[in-house]
Amino acid sequence: MPEPKLTETASAAAGSRAAGRVSGGRFERQAPATSPTMAPPIFESRDLTVSYGDKVAVRNVDLAMRQHEITALIGPSGCGKSTYLRCLNRMNDLISSARVDGEVIYHGQDLYAGDVDPVQVRKRIGMVFQKPNPFPKSIYDNIAFGPRVVGMKGNMDQIVESALRRASLWDEVKDRLKTNAFGMSGGQQQRLCIARALATQPDVLLMDEPCSALDPISTARIEDLMLELKADYSIVIVTHNMQQAARVSDRTAFFSVELQDDGHRIGHVVEFDHTETIFSNPSDKRTEDYVTGKFG
Ligand code: ADP
Repeated sequence: MPEPKLTETASAAAGSRAAGRVSGGRFERQAPATSPTMAPPIFESRDLTVSYGDKVAVRNVDLAMRQHEITALIGPSGCGKSTYLRCLNRMNDLISSARVDGEVIYHGQDLYAGDVDPVQVRKRIGMVFQKPNPFPKSIYDNIAFGPRVVGMKGNMDQIVESALRRASLWDEVKDRLKTNAFGMSGGQQQRLCIARALATQPDVLLMDEPCSALDPISTARIEDLMLELKADYSIVIVTHNMQQAARVSDRTAFFSVELQDDGHRIGHVVEFDHTETIFSNPSDKRTEDYVTGKFG
C-alpha cells in the first residue's frame, strides 16, 4: 500500500504537541508484537505517554497494530483506553491540557511530526464514538459533510451511496436520504456515523465503545459489520464488553491502572496478544483475574 500523504494543507504545524518527556517508567515495558509472519503494522506506538496537565493518564504504551485486523483495547474504567485511542488520530490535540510524548508511527510516518496535518490524519483515520452523534442534518448531508470539508473530488451522490452501502445502511435509507438523521433508530444512527467516517475513504476506523448505547440486536449488526469491514480497513475498538472483544477482535491489549503513592492512578498495558491467548491462556495473572471477572 502506498504511504498516505498526511501533509497536504498549510495548517500542518497547528496542532503539534508540546515538547518534553515525562520521567518515570516504573511499569514493565511491552515489546512491540512484531514478527515477519504477521500482516504489516498499521500503527506502532512507542513509549507513548499521555498527560492531562501535570497528571499522567497512561504511560509507556508500546503496541503494534496490524492491517486488516481488529484490535481490542480492554481494561477497567479510567485506565486510559480512550485516551490512548484518541492518540491514534490526534484527537487529543483538541483537549488543551493533553500532552502526548513518545511516537505513533502510522504506515511508517510519525503522526506527531511537525509537518503532519491533523485534518489529513483524521481523514485517513476515522473515529466512531460511544453515543451515536449524527449532525442535525439530512442523512445525505451527514455523509457528504466530511468529503466536502476535505475537498474530495468526485460525484457526491456516488460517494454518499458507497459509504452507506459499506455501512450496510443503503437499503434501509435510500428512499429517505433527505430526511433528518435524528429520525433513525439508535442502531441506524451508529451505522450512519460509521458511514460518515468511511466517506472520506480512511483506512482505519477507531471505535470508542461503539455499541454501549445500543440494544443487543443493533450491537450484533455493528459487530457483523466490523467483521465485514476488516477486509478493507483496520479497526481499533475500545470496549467494556469482554464477550464483544472475544467475538470480534484478532488481538487484544489489556490495560490496567496502578495506584501511585499520592493516590493518583496511571494506566498502562499489562499484556498484548492474540485475543484467544488473552482470554484462554494469558501470561499475566492480572489479565487472568480481569478476563475471568475477578476484578474490574
Ligand atoms: P478509559 O477509557 O480506560 O475509561 P480514559 O482514557 O477515559 O480511560 O481516562 C484515563 C484517565 O485520564 C482518567 O483518570 C481520566 O479521568 C483522565 N482523563 C480523561 N480525559 C480527560 C480530560 N479531557 N481531561 C482531564 N483528564 C482526563
